Amino acid sequence: MIHFMKCKTKIIILSFLFIFICSGCISDKEEKIYERTDYALGTINKIKIFDHDSKELLDILFERLNDIENKMSVNIENSEISNINNNAGDTPIKVSEETFKLVKKAVNFCELSGGAFDISLGPVIKLWGIGTENQRVPDKSEITKALQLTGYKKIIIDSENQSIFLKDKGMALDLGGIAKGHAADEIKRILEENNVRSAIIDLGGNIIAHGKKTDGTEWKVGIQDPYSERNDYLGILSVSDSTIVTSGAYERFFIENNVRYHHIFDGKTGYPCDNEVMSVTIVSDISEDADALSTACFVLGVEEGMKLIDSLPGTGCIFVTKDNKIYISNELKDKFQLTSGLFTVIG
Ligand code: ADP
Ligand code: MG
Repeated sequence: MIHFMKCKTKIIILSFLFIFICSGCISDKEEKIYERTDYALGTINKIKIFDHDSKELLDILFERLNDIENKMSVNIENSEISNINNNAGDTPIKVSEETFKLVKKAVNFCELSGGAFDISLGPVIKLWGIGTENQRVPDKSEITKALQLTGYKKIIIDSENQSIFLKDKGMALDLGGIAKGHAADEIKRILEENNVRSAIIDLGGNIIAHGKKTDGTEWKVGIQDPYSERNDYLGILSVSDSTIVTSGAYERFFIENNVRYHHIFDGKTGYPCDNEVMSVTIVSDISEDADALSTACFVLGVEEGMKLIDSLPGTGCIFVTKDNKIYISNELKDKFQLTSGLFTVIG
């Protein structure tokens, strides 16, 4: 009964959503891999380093993840984001440069996506509680009330004082759609500082394929079949020095009366987004951008989402729709190989 599993149990299953087909990493017995898997940021994180022999470095990386969680999680009572939320309608809160920059960037993505990505959906996200023990379908009146407390235009960003203020009492930020991407970028930055040139960072499916494999070839990343309960992949992306981020209706959800309620919300309705999209994968250089864009494109749908991605150089996308079709942006066409007969590549 997937839908009533505890959040943590579910997430352990989700950590296998991405399958690395890096046969070199598995079969090359002489290669020493330094890797660690640990729970942080509400998910399972796996970091594999292929060309560096430091366990201390892994300690530093996981400390960084905990540090980001402590600043940005809405589930930690005194995090900076909770502090902003608890003072909504009351006092602007001065935050660290890191949190300030991320919120500012997130608001830019809210604007860029016309509100499809909206970090002010906190009250709606909390009401539904998807992935928690309190998940439920709320009454329409509760949804209407929660929606009144959303709207990224009511987030006041004061660069001079490095402070953030939410105009109305009861408003709440939720960085669930961008924080893992930011954390992945941070891990990559620290790896680069330490001269690591071959590593895989997988923060709950938010992936950075750093550098190349040690044999100089590209990484092969499996894209999850969104219908498969066994986490089969539907195709393979060959990439190097890239981030690959997927938002899917299968990642966190519950089913009630045959309706699937998942964790990506439409800010216009206050309900889980219900369009033709089953999953969308973004490939780019910067993971926080790809994270925000994957959530945004999920909500925008194929046509609008594809337009947005085409307007951003160096960014590609793969949409999988409910009728088993795959739409790939031009950038990625020669990097993607379909491996499942259940899907058809349209364009
Ligand atoms: P995942 O967290 O599974 O990798 P996403 O990156 O798409 O998936 O982020 C989904 C999370 O983002 C939700 O759990 C919620 O915290 C938040 N969220 C949900 N809907 C939106 C939205 N429309 N805009 C911004 N954030 C959202
Ligand atoms: Mg996202």
